[in-house]
Amino acid sequence: MDRPALILDADDTLWENNIFYEKATDDFAARMAREGFDPDQARQTFTQIEHERVLLVGYAPREFAHSMVIAYRLLCEQSSRPPLPKVEAAVEAIGLGVVDYPILLLEGVAETLPQLHLRCRLFLLTKGDLQVQRRKIDRSGLAHYFESLHVVPEKGPQVLKELVARHKLDPNATWMVGNSPRSDVNPALEAGIGAIHIPYAVPWSFEQVPLTDPTRVITLRRFSDLLTLFPQRGGER
Ligand SMILES: [Mg+2]
Repeated sequence: MDRPALILDADDTLWENNIFYEKATDDFAARMAREGFDPDQARQTFTQIEHERVLLVGYAPREFAHSMVIAYRLLCEQSSRPPLPKVEAAVEAIGLGVVDYPILLLEGVAETLPQLHLRCRLFLLTKGDLQVQRRKIDRSGLAHYFESLHVVPEKGPQVLKELVARHKLDPNATWMVGNSPRSDVNPALEAGIGAIHIPYAVPWSFEQVPLTDPTRVITLRRFSDLLTLFPQRGGER
């Protein structure tokens, strides 16, 4: 029998990601407070703009930064103040702070992947800006554990079906593993492959949607639990 195949998400599954976006959002709210705006309202305004825009423009950090500038302009408009170029530049710099953040592997990832890749065929699937995501993969030092690396603008059932077809995977022995109900778990259910959910401690609200069929989802507490789910078979040293 073929080894099982695991398609692994990267951001907030293998390494910390959202904490850097949360920090940038905190910095934006603090900067807006310095300009005399209510920080909670600034945060709310930004979050709403970000969620609306991400569906149209994707997940690139430059778009995240641009959403902050748009939020600042809207706050100015609502209080009949002209936006200041100096503040716009400062806000954009805060947003762009999420580019090239340090890669902090999540607990157990560094110890688990070397064993897991002996037991399973591993594929990496991440969404976002091609160059930004590739640089993160490079910095992680994890690329060699994967048979192939895939960066896509958006994840969905069709992307998974194409991956299954391209690598001639058996859908009954293939699992998507990720932190996001919206981008990892639900698309896997729709594509007819297995779904393994490893919830992340500080999730991005945008990714938190209800599971379409919780009875078909395996939920793990930590990444290293994959070794229990896919135990050692004959031949592994
Ligand atoms: Mg993720």
